[in-house]
Amino acid sequence: MFTCAECRVLACDKNDQSKKPANCPMHDVEFYRKVKNKYQEDGVLGFFQESARVEKEGYGQWPRTKEIMQFCRKMNYREIGVAFCGGLKKEAAIFVKILKDNEFSVTSVVCKNGGIPKEEFGLEISDKINPDSFEAMCNPIGQALLLNREKTDFNVVIGLCVGHDSLFFKYSQAPTTVLIAKDRVLAHNPAGALYCYESYYKKHLLPGT
Ligand code: SF4
Repeated sequence: MFTCAECRVLACDKNDQSKKPANCPMHDVEFYRKVKNKYQEDGVLGFFQESARVEKEGYGQWPRTKEIMQFCRKMNYREIGVAFCGGLKKEAAIFVKILKDNEFSVTSVVCKNGGIPKEEFGLEISDKINPDSFEAMCNPIGQALLLNREKTDFNVVIGLCVGHDSLFFKYSQAPTTVLIAKDRVLAHNPAGALYCYESYYKKHLLPGT
């Protein structure tokens, strides 16, 4: 088991591996030889290099929206797919406008595409947010396949639910990044619960709460 999140040494980031902990993954030299070969696979090295360049050029200056556009420019991605949650339709529309103002071509698909009732895939009335009314299920596979059909170069997720986003990543052919991670109670700032774990949010995050 690896415990990087709890490591106090961070030898990996200090160019001094002599102090690495006993369970540090860097003891496995052969593993890292194979990992380095992965970066040489088709299309990977350039993708990685441009990611690192965007990180450096915009460090502490560019909002993520700009980082996404700069990365797309560097990669010559012109067709951008936006997979968004209906609850963030306004945000998606603004993002699409920004992309178009920057001369990208955009295809956007909402989570509820297909209008498939939740009951069709085994969900009970009690599983619905509003049990007495029609509720279309989120359809992340539909979002991914529609964007695949449009041959988007790069996809951006805005606010897909936990798990629905995972299915989108699984079925999307184009590489994907996330602009907004949904958090319905923290204004889409999930880190807020972590910052407040030692105070207000602890009672919501312990087992049984
Ligand atoms: S890679 Fe090794 S040194 Fe770096 S955080 Fe993980 S355990 Fe610590």
